[in-house]
Amino acid sequence: MSVRDALHRVLGEDAVSPLALPPWDNASMDGYAVLASDIAGATAAAPVLLPVIGTIAAGSAADQPLGPGQSFRIMTGAPVPPGADTVIRVEDTDGGDTRVEVRSDRDAGRNIRPRGEDVAAGAVAVARGSPLGPAHLGMLAAVGMARVRVHRRPRVAILSSGDELVDVEQFAEVLAGRRIVSSNGYSIEAAVREAGGIPVTLGIAPDDPAALRERLGGLDCDLLLTTGGVSVGAFDYTRDVLRQLGAELEFWRVRIRPGAPLGFGMLGTLPWIGLPGNPVSALVTFELFARPAVRRFHGFHDVFRRPVSVTLGETITINAPLTHFLRAVVSPDGTGLRARLTGPQGSGLLSSLVSANALLVVPADRQSVPAGETLQALLLGEGGQHSAVPGL
Ligand code: AMP
Ligand code: MG
Repeated sequence: MSVRDALHRVLGEDAVSPLALPPWDNASMDGYAVLASDIAGATAAAPVLLPVIGTIAAGSAADQPLGPGQSFRIMTGAPVPPGADTVIRVEDTDGGDTRVEVRSDRDAGRNIRPRGEDVAAGAVAVARGSPLGPAHLGMLAAVGMARVRVHRRPRVAILSSGDELVDVEQFAEVLAGRRIVSSNGYSIEAAVREAGGIPVTLGIAPDDPAALRERLGGLDCDLLLTTGGVSVGAFDYTRDVLRQLGAELEFWRVRIRPGAPLGFGMLGTLPWIGLPGNPVSALVTFELFARPAVRRFHGFHDVFRRPVSVTLGETITINAPLTHFLRAVVSPDGTGLRARLTGPQGSGLLSSLVSANALLVVPADRQSVPAGETLQALLLGEGGQHSAVPGL
């Protein structure tokens, strides 16, 4: 793609510079190119006077080398003339244009940026696998890469399932008390986009094996996410239908809360992650399992959130021996971070995530953790550090 469009992509090739950067020795100050030996000992009281034999603007070059006892007026970025080893800043001169008075020798031997100082010819300017930010795009352009090879954004299909669900356009049904909005359809689509994927919305399937089968067959995408229908309810058909379609179910249920009824399998070469239906469970399991997968497809090496240590602002109790991911607000506190829960933690309470900026990780063996103790938290959102290893 065009280098202009490559922000937040991951580079798919080494960007090798065909030239040295900067391409020539150049002035790092506006001033006068001279020989250090010519201005040695110059002071305001005893200035050195030199003839100015030309002016070199950025974008031009000297028409002759600099000889002993001479100077060139020179601008920042302009090529330093052969023979010069010093650029005297203009502030240390009288600014003359036919002759110049040099009033200090503090710049002797300085203010020249050598050719190749930034990037050597043939060097890797940006390495394959680098996530591209503004500086990377600038560097890619500087070494001539008008077009760059980047990892493709993965296409992520999202299917919600449940007879009770409608899209927000059918809100009258909701107001009439017959249906609820399929909020997962919106939250998971946004989460896919935030993770760098292209959401492919498959809509809402009813709790009916034939309808599910029809939606899940022949998909053209990199990852399949379903929400709901993956638990132990009488109408939870997702796993059955995937099995009928020939999927290998690799695991089902994880020892976490929220999100225990998570499923994972392969439908041919297409990975499937079955997110639970409860809105908080769906987003938390997306965060823990699907987001790293989307990032990996997108070319990132560091796909897991790097946990941060937080001090508990309140005592935490959990009532099942499962790793808990509690919705919390983490804020700066002195030199560290402090965490408070956002309130009730039910897996259907989307409000607990609306006000959260972190997931507080409570290990399965910590039934009660007193205020003031330290736990780990995963900071949500687009900032923050990532790691190649979960939990580290
Ligand atoms: P399920 O996993 O299908 O048993 O659903 C568990 C709970 O999540 C039920 O209360 C569902 O109504 C709710 N739910 C399932 N899918 C969605 C969805 N797409 N949006 C909002 N809530 C959902
Ligand atoms: Mg359901």
